[in-house]
Amino acid sequence: MYDPQPSASHYIDGAYVEDNTGTPIPVIYPATGEVIATLHAATPAVIDAALAAAEIAQKQWARVTPRERGRVLTRAAQIMRARNRELSVLETRDTGKPLQETLVADATSGADALEYFGGVANGLTGEHIPLGDDWVYTIREALGVCVGIGAWNYPTQIACWKAAPALACGNAMVFKPSETTPLCALKIAEILTEAGAPAGLFNVVQGMGAVGAALVTDPRVAKVSLTGSVPTGRKVYAAAAEQMKHVTMELGGKSPLVIFDDADLDNAVGGAINGNFYSSGQVCSNGTRVFVQKGIKEVFLARLAERLKNAVIGDPLDEATSFGPMVSDRQMQIVQGYIEKGKAEGARLVSGGGRVDRDGFYLEPTVFADVTDDMTIAREEIFGPVMAVLDFDTEAEAIARANATEYGLSAGVFTRDLSRGHRVIGQLRAGSCFINSYNDAPVEAPFGGVKASGVGRENSKAALDHWSQLKSVYVRMGDVEAAF
Ligand code: NAD
Repeated sequence: MYDPQPSASHYIDGAYVEDNTGTPIPVIYPATGEVIATLHAATPAVIDAALAAAEIAQKQWARVTPRERGRVLTRAAQIMRARNRELSVLETRDTGKPLQETLVADATSGADALEYFGGVANGLTGEHIPLGDDWVYTIREALGVCVGIGAWNYPTQIACWKAAPALACGNAMVFKPSETTPLCALKIAEILTEAGAPAGLFNVVQGMGAVGAALVTDPRVAKVSLTGSVPTGRKVYAAAAEQMKHVTMELGGKSPLVIFDDADLDNAVGGAINGNFYSSGQVCSNGTRVFVQKGIKEVFLARLAERLKNAVIGDPLDEATSFGPMVSDRQMQIVQGYIEKGKAEGARLVSGGGRVDRDGFYLEPTVFADVTDDMTIAREEIFGPVMAVLDFDTEAEAIARANATEYGLSAGVFTRDLSRGHRVIGQLRAGSCFINSYNDAPVEAPFGGVKASGVGRENSKAALDHWSQLKSVYVRMGDVEAAF
């Protein structure tokens, strides 16, 4: 297997750059705990070089026709698809997610975004607004230098979901991956260069929160797009507001999945599994509050327990493995803390609850039943493989309790009664919703949250509004009237 150690920590102005004086960042393979690479956090000089390169590249790139910009993104998508296996193995080593998942959900999803925005770049047009003899036209302009900051759960996807629409709209980007998973974004930078992106258009700098904060507050930066937790989102949004910058905030959630007693049981169980255990539960949109109508509660729990026995827990690089480790020792400990709270507060442990007896940061897929709304595991985002099953009697009750949270990222409903499905989804306060499904995220659909879960939307045509701004131009055809 090839060495995951990159030739240098950062990618700036079309080339790898190192500055060994930056704080070391060990990259740990979550399945074994071994250090597989060491990078260095960006120093102020590295941050400055990245922003300076982006500023120069952006001015030229904004003048390139949208069609040509789109062509570069499309080529990058093709390269990513051709290298899917190599990129997936790297993603697996960076995050610990099973190769079975990364082969279909990471570089491929990044390529989808590059391909989609490569295609829609052509459609970036303004409007003509007739006003009698006069008229207004609008120009859709790039914002300038944009900063992307990533979480550790989907490093390739997050980098592409931000870079693809940003670049399509004529912006340049400086991207800071999570310090926990710093490897994959460097590959995106290499691929964009190979696809014909000019030097400086997409730069990667490594580091912890302080590097992110330095990027957010730099006056050269026009927009910040963060994928991360709500506490970080509050800080980044506030810092960006200080200089009136544009933001997109993709933050955490505690999403409800409401299962009515007329639901197809196996599909509902499948939705709950997808919404809690994919990527070992480290998915922002997960439906971690599973509300099950009382009539099917016990049969739901029994079927779920049966299906969980089919999880193949093991070496993430073995394609048969369907459930891998947590991303880090720290995240595993956080989740263990929640499991203990669940037990202490009186929830009934139905499955899992412990560590898996092997090296690395493995926790068992865990299910609590008889969870009540006031329990910590029903209120706080756990970001691990812990499902909380709550029961309910009526539709109105389920809606009220599902909405009783500061979060609003996702929501799902399982029912065979389609009018109820639409009626309930219509009342759930969440941005990305599902009927008889859970956690699908095609690039064609807007993705993002309401309330504390975020601001703005990624993916789809809606993303273009968040990566560009409109200039309107009033054109007078006759004489100017003036008071004096
Ligand atoms: P985190 O908030 O700890 O860190 C996210 C990123 O922000 C990291 O790159 C970190 O270095 C950086 N950062 C930290 N402090 C900063 C500061 N003051 N200024 C600028 N940058 C700063 O999140 P995490 O633990 O890496 O990821 C898990 C969280 O991300 C969960 O809450 C999850 O729900 C959320 N998430 C959301 C989405 C979404 O699309 N809505 C997707 C994935 C993850």
